[in-house]
Amino acid sequence: MNAGKLSSFKRIVVKVGSALLVDAAIGQVRADWLASLADDLAQLKKAGVEVLVVSSGAIALGRQLLKLPSGPLKLEESQAAAAVGQIELGPAWNRVLAAHGYQTGQILLTLSDTEERRRYLNARSTLDTLLRLGAIPIINENDTVATSEIRYGDNDRLAARVASMASADCLVLLSDIDGLYTAPPGQDSSAEHIPVVHTITPAIEAMAGSAGSELSRGGMKTKIEAGKIATHAGAQMVIASGKTLHPLASIDRADTRKTWFSAATNPTAARKSWIAGSLEPKGSITVDGGAVAALQRGKSLLPAGVTAVSGQFQRGDCVWITAPDGVHLARGLITYDSDDAGRLIGCHSKDIEARLGYAGRDTMIHRDNMAMVVAGTDKRMPDAQSVDS
Ligand code: GLU
Repeated sequence: MNAGKLSSFKRIVVKVGSALLVDAAIGQVRADWLASLADDLAQLKKAGVEVLVVSSGAIALGRQLLKLPSGPLKLEESQAAAAVGQIELGPAWNRVLAAHGYQTGQILLTLSDTEERRRYLNARSTLDTLLRLGAIPIINENDTVATSEIRYGDNDRLAARVASMASADCLVLLSDIDGLYTAPPGQDSSAEHIPVVHTITPAIEAMAGSAGSELSRGGMKTKIEAGKIATHAGAQMVIASGKTLHPLASIDRADTRKTWFSAATNPTAARKSWIAGSLEPKGSITVDGGAVAALQRGKSLLPAGVTAVSGQFQRGDCVWITAPDGVHLARGLITYDSDDAGRLIGCHSKDIEARLGYAGRDTMIHRDNMAMVVAGTDKRMPDAQSVDS
């Protein structure tokens, strides 16, 4: 396991809890602390790491601005508080990261954006584009529209979903506690700290208490749930205290307490096994010999290499990629629905807009959304023999 320096990862999601970001007594952003975190993020960027931030704090800021009483809020009050607080939170991040020359992009997600494949693919593609352009995505739940049954409610699990969606290899949960203990340390003085968790077993789950504070919803329980999501998506996770200044630099120090969770796989393998194993293909895209060779070299499928389209499917559905001789080469999540895919047969990328009447994406199936079929284990589509090559 890579429990070494954060700078050795490729893509890190950092989740920041409300209790760290907001001074509860005055309901304002802790500016010095945020600036120190921005320094750490900038160091990672300079070392070539792509970073995404999942930031809580909207409700904590908004409740103070709206002069709401302390204690639990009604759902509609927390939604109003989130609306007011988010408009403070975004600029706070923007300011501290702009000081290092980085652009920020605000992304507010609902549960369905991470659960429904089409929305998930859209959100993933926006995150990828922001990262490619060098910006730092600042993500929160879209609390203003999410009601109880359709919301995460805590940013621990949201951050784990974001890590999975962005194929991150590390998730950092900055919290007010410095990791996992055998029992809640505030209640049990014999509680022992656990530095590394290789597998999240029922015994590990039993160690997590359930309490969250008034400002942040997630207790250790949601952090362990986040760990299950993240480690199965191929990310290592670390729970560390964010109470000090420069909380990310502090994780790199050997003497700092934290808990690392080993990844169960790697992000590429997790994504490929999801595409290869759990989605039923809805159609087939037959490709020419040139495209077969390109796919075997790990390239994306472009419309120019497509010779036939069969089946009815929507954008984001899983389809077979079929060789001229009818053999299934790969499964992939397609960028276009079956009508538009049919219109784009043999089309060069520069002509896509003219054919469709809108500016579509260059790839028919992006290589990240593709899993090659292992030779000899594929199933032929019933109509594969009749596909015209
Ligand atoms: N989305 C909530 C907020 O920004 C925080 C949820 C959490 O504390 O985990 O205020």
